[in-house]
Amino acid sequence: MVSQALEAWAARFDGRPTVVSVAPGRVNLIGEHTDYNEGYVLPAALEMAVAIAARPATEERLASAQVPDAADHRGPGWRRYASACRSALAEIGVEAPPLEAVVYSTVPGGSGLSSSAALLVAFVGAWNELLRLALEPEQVAQVAWRAENEFVGVKVGRMDQMASAMGVDGAALFIDMRTLEVEPCRLPGGMEIGVLDTRKPRSVAAGKYNERVAECARAVEAISKVRPIDALRDATLEDLRSVDIDEVARRRARHVITENRRVLEFRDALKSGDKSALGTLCEESHRSLKEDYEVSVAELDAMARSARAAPGCIAARMTGAGFGGCCVALIESGSFDEFKRSTLSSYGMYGFPTPHVFRSKASRGAYAISY
Ligand code: ADP
Ligand code: MG
Repeated sequence: MVSQALEAWAARFDGRPTVVSVAPGRVNLIGEHTDYNEGYVLPAALEMAVAIAARPATEERLASAQVPDAADHRGPGWRRYASACRSALAEIGVEAPPLEAVVYSTVPGGSGLSSSAALLVAFVGAWNELLRLALEPEQVAQVAWRAENEFVGVKVGRMDQMASAMGVDGAALFIDMRTLEVEPCRLPGGMEIGVLDTRKPRSVAAGKYNERVAECARAVEAISKVRPIDALRDATLEDLRSVDIDEVARRRARHVITENRRVLEFRDALKSGDKSALGTLCEESHRSLKEDYEVSVAELDAMARSARAAPGCIAARMTGAGFGGCCVALIESGSFDEFKRSTLSSYGMYGFPTPHVFRSKASRGAYAISY
């Protein structure tokens, strides 16, 4: 990543950058629609990353190797991510100087691998290194999260920025979204991660997402009449049996309650190397997202089924908010090519557009190098 960023720099600027800042994309292994219910998630940072080569300057000049300059004249464009980071740094009393910088990325944009979080974490990481701020990874994640939420104006959970900033080589991160505690969980036996992008646009996702948030709030309110709780994180299946609540809210709550339990069991299964449990938990997660939370679509169902039947597959399920996007799979070390061939061939029978398949190990989080 670093050498590619340096090459991209040399194609645009004279002299040398003073810093290269790298931040990975991420995928969530399990724990879907739990974050805004103060529950658990378990993402991993990926090998695909954004690298920014930068140098302080008197006037800002930003380029991206992936976005031609001419393509970016309409709307606020991707440079708003840099301004958003500057505004978020200002909130903690840091004045971020203008940069000459080149972005080089291997995180596909809009594929659900959170290229936006990687870009934000990389910018914050660049200023952190340039100004010798010594921000810890969790602080970098917090600034990048404020940038995306408040200054880009996209309401997202903290998971993406935390996974990108705090990733650990060979491990996924168990994160408690209430306390923001993080526990790295090693993937046993050099397991690989497959991301299977259906390329189905998530056009209805934003509206449905807000609907689900409201349904969860309704469930919390109903349960709180019997037993006060702050979030669905605190609810149990027992609560659902005794509460007067509409059927839709009941099913949404049941997904969140059982999904949180699955994340805890998944963490245990990683520790004990119980691959069969990992497979079962992902299958149950997918079913719960499809039947109780109703955020799956035919493409995701077909993809998860195709992946599960492929050689070398340990576990597979839809990942992300749903209504399109990706499935994630855990794959035996050394089986990726066979897994991919079989999954594509089975999925091909459904007649959907050809998916994109990405391969990665669980990877280290963001880092920066000074020159
Ligand atoms: P996701 O985070 O799922 O990849 P988003 O829509 O949140 O999708 O973020 C994608 C946006 O991030 C792009 O539209 C672009 O503005 C910005 N972006 C991502 N990668 C790059 C890049 N290499 N160069 C410039 N901008 C990028
Ligand atoms: Mg994004």
